[in-house]
Amino acid sequence: MLRLNDIVDRVQSIRPTANIEIIHKAYVFTAKVHHGQLRESGEPYLIHPINVSFILADWNLDEETIVTGLLHDTVEDTVATIEEIRELFGDTVGQLVDGVTKISRVVISDVADHKAESLRKMILAMGKDIRVILVKLADRIHNMRTLDHLSPDRQSAIALETQEIYAPIASRLGMSRVKMELEDKCFEILHPDKYRELARAADERNRGQEEHIRKVTSLLETKLREAGVDAAITGRSKNISGIFNKMIRQEIEFEHIYDLIGFRIIAKTIRECYEALGIVHNLWRPVPGRFKDYIAMPKANFYQSLHTTVFGPDGEMMEIQIRTEEMHGLAEYGVAAHWRYKEGRQETDKGDQMFVWLRQILDLQKEMKDPREFLDTVKVELFPEEVYVFTPRGDVKELPRGATPIDFAYAIHTEVGNQCVGAKVNGKMVPLRASLKNGDVVEIITNSSHKPSRDWLKIAKTRKALNRIRAFIRQEQQEHSLTLGRQILERELRKYSLAIMKTQKSKEFAEILQENGFKSADDYCIALGYGKVSLVPLIRRLIPPEQLQEKGKESRLEALFKRVTARKPSAVIVKGVDDIFIRLANCCHPVPGDPIVGFITRGRGVTIHARDCPKALETDPARAIEVAWEAGTKAAHPVKLKVICADKPGLLADISRTITASDVDIRRAMVMTTRDKRAICSFDVAVNDAKHLAALIKSIEKVKNVYSVERGKGRDKPV
Ligand code: MN
Repeated sequence: MLRLNDIVDRVQSIRPTANIEIIHKAYVFTAKVHHGQLRESGEPYLIHPINVSFILADWNLDEETIVTGLLHDTVEDTVATIEEIRELFGDTVGQLVDGVTKISRVVISDVADHKAESLRKMILAMGKDIRVILVKLADRIHNMRTLDHLSPDRQSAIALETQEIYAPIASRLGMSRVKMELEDKCFEILHPDKYRELARAADERNRGQEEHIRKVTSLLETKLREAGVDAAITGRSKNISGIFNKMIRQEIEFEHIYDLIGFRIIAKTIRECYEALGIVHNLWRPVPGRFKDYIAMPKANFYQSLHTTVFGPDGEMMEIQIRTEEMHGLAEYGVAAHWRYKEGRQETDKGDQMFVWLRQILDLQKEMKDPREFLDTVKVELFPEEVYVFTPRGDVKELPRGATPIDFAYAIHTEVGNQCVGAKVNGKMVPLRASLKNGDVVEIITNSSHKPSRDWLKIAKTRKALNRIRAFIRQEQQEHSLTLGRQILERELRKYSLAIMKTQKSKEFAEILQENGFKSADDYCIALGYGKVSLVPLIRRLIPPEQLQEKGKESRLEALFKRVTARKPSAVIVKGVDDIFIRLANCCHPVPGDPIVGFITRGRGVTIHARDCPKALETDPARAIEVAWEAGTKAAHPVKLKVICADKPGLLADISRTITASDVDIRRAMVMTTRDKRAICSFDVAVNDAKHLAALIKSIEKVKNVYSVERGKGRDKPV
């Protein structure tokens, strides 16, 4: 149990000169007036103000705020009056306690008008002094931590209010630690089953990860030390509500959340942050499109950090955040972190800027008499990553920043999205790729014979729109494959004088379906049409062997499969299938040892891409299938190399000799010289696997006057 001394120790450890006397005085006062009161748990009430005050001390806030933490419930729940407080503890504390009391008097209600009204009061109260909301947040945290003794109804009501109002405010103030704790707790209360299920799944997944975290951390430590970068590294698992939000936002299952474990590098200077980023990208391949520089471009709540996602040591995606200690403090404690750096009260720093928006809202609320209108405005301010747009009838749609009319159309209805041919924003025709802005009135023009196009996948921003467009394309492909599959089946069966209807009702057919996990005959035909399965096992089962032999010559189908298998580069295994046509992608030229992924391509079997190939990341994940390199195959794989070197006579010969000496064939070479006396050579070579390639790159790097060697990307485009 916490005691007064814990608060005092905490305050003195940070500010030895702090005014401890006033804290003592507040403690004595609060103990006196709350005397005899009990919490729902049966414990003395005093426990609550002490905990709230300790949380505030832990955020390094000043004595006045810590004292307010101790006194925050006295006016509301005891005989103490605000005049008394003002007299004993001064005007500032008096004002703070008054502000907190006013917020507490706001009735919890799920009626929208009341919610708007309570939010309005809250913002009015905290607009005068941001510390009011910090005390209120600390109060809410302790209440959320100790909800157990309340009735389920009360628990839900408090959790709902916290989720709708307090968590977004904490987020807007940049207090991510508070926001995460509140959101997790709300989630646990509002969706207990889902929470338990996810917590268990995350726990299970994390259990095997300690070794992995240790490996990554120590590798990073070594590399950073070697580069002279002084930094601390931590590995952590995402919080439960964060996982859940991601599942909802991206409409994916838990199994498809890959970056459950994230790493954080806390460096001393901004320069070191960028150095660390370089080291990370050198160690592991970055996932394209996932790098974000919030140091150069801070978020609306002043959050700063570098974010990148890389393919880790085992080819799995992991997110890495890099920032300075000061940025870290701001990221975790937001406005409270700024408070502690502030000595005088005058200068404007980020902490002050942070509640400039509060003041703006205060001005707004004077103009707006309708609480609903006010709530909508405040929402816009509280959620800066979103835009709010309207239907012609005045309904509000919430979309992510950068959303287009296509996203809007799908937000209304899937059919509206599928049939969308154009859009008017504020009465004017706009291209479908236009970004929507707050307050836009959007009208979608539809045509019932129109269909979504594949290009829309590049325009849409929301998961919902992307998924619906993919679903439509997939549906079309499926229908096509079903027709194709039926034709193949029918034609082949006819050779043996079998009827398709009868065959589909046979025991043998049912067995094939069951063994391959197909739910229906149509599923089987679709797979056949896609080229995912072969007909041979079914035919073998249906036709007695002597009859098959009697036919003498092999069927056209078998001949086709022979041809297909002969063309297979044999180095890749597709899980659960052994007679499928495999093609290595031309864009990324994966070689054995590279992390890879396969995509079913209609009529062309499976295409193998490198996991980080931009094209693979663009492809519909529903078509992805698990593939692996077959161990021990020795086949030559084409790879492009880009070598940048000094433009010196004889150097190309040196490089070529090195390549041939590594037992590598050169299939093509091209040289371009630049004005600054450099040469850019591009080689098409054939290697056995990733190891072979790495050794080759190393030996070329050792050639004198070679500046850099890089694995080339892209089809035969000159580098
Ligand atoms: Mn309280």
